[in-house]
Amino acid sequence: MKITKIQSQVIRVPVDEPLADGPGTPGAMREFVALRVGTDEGIEGIGYTFFGAALTGALKHAVDALGALAVGEDPLRTEAVAAKLRAAAAGSGPGGLLTLALSAIDIALWDIRGKSLNLPLWRMIGGHRERVPTYASGALMRTFPLDHLVKAAPRLVEKGFRQMKTQLALPGDTSPEKEVERIRRVRESIGPGIDLMCDINQRWRVDQAIDIGTRIEDAHLYWLEDVTTADDYQGLARVTGALATPIAGGEYLYGPAPHRQMMEARSVDIVMIDLMRAGGITQWLKIAGMAEAFNLPVVSHLVPEIHVHLIAAIPNGLTVEYMPWTFKIFEEVPVPVNGELEVPRKPGLGLKFDEAALKRYAV
Ligand SMILES: [Mg+2]
Repeated sequence: MKITKIQSQVIRVPVDEPLADGPGTPGAMREFVALRVGTDEGIEGIGYTFFGAALTGALKHAVDALGALAVGEDPLRTEAVAAKLRAAAAGSGPGGLLTLALSAIDIALWDIRGKSLNLPLWRMIGGHRERVPTYASGALMRTFPLDHLVKAAPRLVEKGFRQMKTQLALPGDTSPEKEVERIRRVRESIGPGIDLMCDINQRWRVDQAIDIGTRIEDAHLYWLEDVTTADDYQGLARVTGALATPIAGGEYLYGPAPHRQMMEARSVDIVMIDLMRAGGITQWLKIAGMAEAFNLPVVSHLVPEIHVHLIAAIPNGLTVEYMPWTFKIFEEVPVPVNGELEVPRKPGLGLKFDEAALKRYAV
């Protein structure tokens, strides 16, 4: 089999919060690069990537330039294709747009592999289990009023979620007391039986993370995420050592090597892997295997429609972040039942672009 063509497109999708009907941000948009990879056997793989923001046009350009170099190659030789494209981009990596662009191509190649073998991705790469826990994400944001949060969180429980994430490091005039009060109110609104995670998005210093993290230990968070600058591995390790609450991190890291630094420094208790920044499915699996060797569980970042495959496939997968950023561009996406996602049964990613949506959101 040979890759015969690639075609990419930028789409711009309005930002909303459908899980608990959260306040919208009028005019706010997210941009994605959607990719189709064609083969001489008529199998088409789809991929996508994002995080380009103002550089999304440049990201599409990178996908096109690298994709052109993949034409003529065997789509099943994912490592050979990645090596060729990385070498062609020379020193413009290892992170950033190069990796984000490579991810779109790698994802499409795995989709082709699954379709050619008539196997869903999760079975091709290990098939550890058929059902995975998933948690509601994006519904309890730091920018939303607390009054909304204490109604939205129970609404998520009513919808069947057993796990959900909120955020601290509040915008504007905050204080440790305000932070503590907010998490206390959210916890009270759902009771002790629901897993509650909390994301800091790198906004605290190490000393703040230890101080506020200590004050909120009685909220019994399932994890506290990205408590300080993501590549301050030693600083993270101090927080992780100081708190009983498990610390999660890794979504901001590009490729396997920084994950190795993070794990060797014992910076986190839970490894979060972002599919796009990892470098696609091929690299995601390497990071997950490394986490297994370090006796660490793995959780996913965004893209639940693919991460359901990945978390289900590996023995150390913990839970899938259910954040519906990308849902509008597909015909069908996995839907949680009683807080769990069932693995997809169709070959490859089991996803189809919604052609009407791609037209509607075309840039
Ligand atoms: Mg996060």
